[in-house]
Amino acid sequence: MILPSKPLAIYVDVDDTICKTNGMDYPNSQPIMENIQKVNDLYDAGHHIVYWTARGQKSGIDWTELTTEQLKKWGARYHDLKLTKPPYDVFIDDKVINSRDWEKGRWLETWEDKWK
Ligand SMILES: [Mg+2]
Repeated sequence: MILPSKPLAIYVDVDDTICKTNGMDYPNSQPIMENIQKVNDLYDAGHHIVYWTARGQKSGIDWTELTTEQLKKWGARYHDLKLTKPPYDVFIDDKVINSRDWEKGRWLETWEDKWK
């Protein structure tokens, strides 16, 4: 695996990125262990990992405790968990990597120039 040469602040989504979630049924989310391991590898390589989720942003329910417990149970290593992500349908941003591309491992090669 090619890793960036300098430490990065990496924000990682939770639902349908490191776990499979049906709608807002967070208590029954199922971990995607290979994706959690990919993030753990980045953590171990010295990058700053923040899990960033919109859980509860629409409903006003505080999912901090459940999410913290799930991340612990799933063995996710991270520096911070923020439940402050705004709800959106489309995210247009020059630094975003689609989670499906990331899963396929194509992101680092594509992004290496950006980090030099
Ligand atoms: Mg998501």
